[in-house]
Amino acid sequence: MTHSPPASGAVIVAPTPTVDQLRELVAKACRILYQQGLSDYLGHPSARIPGTDLVVIKPKHSPRVRGMDTMRPEHMVIIDLEGNLVEGEEIPPTERFIHTEIYRARPDVASVVHTHQPQATLAGVIELPILPVLHVAAPLLEQPVPLWPVAELVVDSRLGAELATALGQASLCHLQGHGIVSVAGSVEEATLGAIHLEQLAEVCVKAAQTGRSPRVIPTDQIANLRKRLASPAGRWAYYAELAGAL
Ligand SMILES: [Zn+2]
Repeated sequence: MTHSPPASGAVIVAPTPTVDQLRELVAKACRILYQQGLSDYLGHPSARIPGTDLVVIKPKHSPRVRGMDTMRPEHMVIIDLEGNLVEGEEIPPTERFIHTEIYRARPDVASVVHTHQPQATLAGVIELPILPVLHVAAPLLEQPVPLWPVAELVVDSRLGAELATALGQASLCHLQGHGIVSVAGSVEEATLGAIHLEQLAEVCVKAAQTGRSPRVIPTDQIANLRKRLASPAGRWAYYAELAGAL
């Protein structure tokens, strides 16, 4: 499995995951996103199956498929890059084209997380820049978060491709009036990217309410943080444990 540059700290070095391991990781990401307040029953993480054009993804919510807190590996479905269901008993999410078109445009991306997380979405709505103001999360924002000013449901490949173009080579993108995407070389890093973005957005929104400008961490300090932060594996384990009771 190839890994893109990490959101922060060192890359999670892991052997190429199996499909079963990806089902487990994507389901765990669902529960973490729920536990962190980033998702309720909407939103979906996914993972590319290495060496294929197939994607493991959380299914569409329904009376049978409820909150993200209930997701387990056996609920996950597999789709191709056309968005067709390849394996699984549930329906793929309506907005599966967010994932398929980003995977098509970005061979370096192994995982896509889409949420409607409240603080980052709010920042996108009011076009308030989310700045690198907290040390662990700061390396995520060496580049400003691009904005895709479309609040429509991403129901086809044309809209998905537009979003992928707006994302460009970034690891995050606002879907204005809708939510965000976080992409990375692993499920763990894409999920942590969403968590850290929300932490930064919350501080930036609160700072804006005080009327004072927050201190932005200088780029040389961010460069040092990137070199010295512990591997994201520990942070993933922490959030997974928090979500463990779900
Ligand atoms: Zn959405």
